[in-house]
Amino acid sequence: MSLVFRRPLSGIDRPQMPADVVIVGGGPAGMACALRLSQLIDAHNTADPDAQLSKENIYVLEKAREVGQHCLSGALLDPRSMRELLPGFEKEAPIEATVDKEAVYFLTEKSKFKLPITPPPLRDHGNYVISLNRFVKWLGGKAEEKGVTIFTGFAGSELLFEGSRVTGVRTDDKGVNKENEKKSNFEPGYDLKAKVVILAEGSRGSLTKQLIQRFQLDWNLNAQTYGQGIKELWEVPAGRIAAGEVIYTMGWPLTAREYGGAWIYGGKNNVVSLGFVTGLDYRDPRLDPQHVLQEFKKHSFVTQLLAGGKMIRYGAKSMPYGGWWAVPPLAGDGWMIIGDSAGLLNSQRLKGIHLAIKSGMLAAETAFEALKKNDSSAAMLGQFQKKVESSWIKDELWKVRNFHQGFEHGFWPGMFHTALQQITGGYGVRNRYPSTLGYQRMKKLAELPASGGAEAHLLGPAKGDGKLTFDKLTDLYHSGTRHEEDQPAHLILQNTDVCNERCIQEFGSPCQNFCPANVYELVDDITQPEGKRISLNPSNCVHCKACDIADPYQIITWVPPEGGGGPNYDGM
Ligand SMILES: Cc1cc2nc3c(=O)[nH]c(=O)nc-3n(C[C@H](O)[C@H](O)[C@H](O)COP(=O)(O)OP(=O)(O)OC[C@H]3O[C@@H](n4cnc5c(N)ncnc54)[C@H](O)[C@@H]3O)c2cc1C
Repeated sequence: MSLVFRRPLSGIDRPQMPADVVIVGGGPAGMACALRLSQLIDAHNTADPDAQLSKENIYVLEKAREVGQHCLSGALLDPRSMRELLPGFEKEAPIEATVDKEAVYFLTEKSKFKLPITPPPLRDHGNYVISLNRFVKWLGGKAEEKGVTIFTGFAGSELLFEGSRVTGVRTDDKGVNKENEKKSNFEPGYDLKAKVVILAEGSRGSLTKQLIQRFQLDWNLNAQTYGQGIKELWEVPAGRIAAGEVIYTMGWPLTAREYGGAWIYGGKNNVVSLGFVTGLDYRDPRLDPQHVLQEFKKHSFVTQLLAGGKMIRYGAKSMPYGGWWAVPPLAGDGWMIIGDSAGLLNSQRLKGIHLAIKSGMLAAETAFEALKKNDSSAAMLGQFQKKVESSWIKDELWKVRNFHQGFEHGFWPGMFHTALQQITGGYGVRNRYPSTLGYQRMKKLAELPASGGAEAHLLGPAKGDGKLTFDKLTDLYHSGTRHEEDQPAHLILQNTDVCNERCIQEFGSPCQNFCPANVYELVDDITQPEGKRISLNPSNCVHCKACDIADPYQIITWVPPEGGGGPNYDGM
């Protein structure tokens, strides 16, 4: 059976739509950007009734069926940027609790050690426990009230260019079948011709990737690295954890070789957000981040918290870990990049929402000036870069610019570098620590112990007992994932021969392991050299982008499926 992959249909007459600003992605970055832009236009129109600016042609494209459905986070909100965007927002925003208690533990297999003091980066007093899904829904509502148009169920599928200028965005074609042919309900995508395009697609954005590759924006950057967050939401018996209580753990079940850690946040009504982030730069291709979370839950510390409780939701998402040295140029001719798409995340604090919001606000201020002057050249939009560099975004990220790289040689050297960086303003042993692409650190099976060695408990699929631990399909069921079945695969494998002939033998097909949703499976096929071939279940995809990031041959490209498909992170 041959696989047919999604690609733009040719020879199609696509409707054109003029736009002032198109924001691709309606997460915290995109929504904050839309809202701030409309605030600025309102203020301008009130102050100067003779020089009115219109808000009619400001569009947000969001691939989810409803705003917030694809938003997954821990989530603790540092309220700094929200207080700038909407002073007093706490009165009406959906906030679960205010953090008033936190602790950090180091776990071994059988014990736990509480750090006597909470390290400053993990102090969360006064931050808010939120569901990012609900928060973004609310923020999107604010933008809509202000007159911004949000197109939900529409993915940005391609950027439009004229020479070196970005001139707009093409939305996804709808009604295309598995063979990449039109169905009777076919609707071509729109060509939104925009003065300014703002990319707010989150981690490993697909249009952002196109832009970075086309203009080689990363030529002098550190490699972008990523973490894979696997999250479950639990309802637990009353009294186990208070709303507003925050726990971080390091250590078990990871060994000192892998990077990662867990969070446990107490929300309202005895709901607990619990998850594990595993750096996508581990060496053993058999390691499975969903399995890591299941092992974590088996620690007596966590078992006691969850006993008698019920897992109610599941999700997975990557996050950029590379830090300041991996941030690409933020603006050019006709475009800007904000939020996680730009890598503006503080991995030491496991926080990016406040930075996404602030970057969205600064991009909005730049877009506003561009509209007023009718100039969206690189020189004009380049002001955004300057604004970010003179804002607290740079201050915050500069102090942790070498944080993740410090862990490249393992946990203990990482702790040493962290301590040194803490007292040298992020410098450590040098101003810029280098970094390695995560997939390049993956070893071939022949170089690893067949038994799995110290990592044996993290390898391969988790079986799950159905109460405390779960296999992937059971977890996946709780993500609410749904796609139109009859559409071409949106995970594009450039060369399946590499999968079936080389990868299977050299790495044991790690896509089966790093994918948290069982999209990649090996099935029997006697025509293949190894008697097996790779098979795809794209409808399972939760849009985490791990495959695009971690594949050791870099032959997988994630592109958005037909708009509206994907997980439903309701309440996550
Ligand atoms: C497991 C996990 C835990 C985290 N915990 C915390 C935490 O506790 N506190 C904190 O501050 N941060 C946390 N973060 C980080 C935080 O969630 C992100 O930094 C933040 O969500 C980034 O916002 P964003 O708007 O840039 O991207 P996102 O939140 O990813 O939003 C991007 C949006 O764009 C849409 N989109 C993407 N591509 C397209 C396209 N081509 N066309 C149309 N729409 C598109 C997506 O559907 C999505 O709605 C966590 C992240 C993870 C993964």
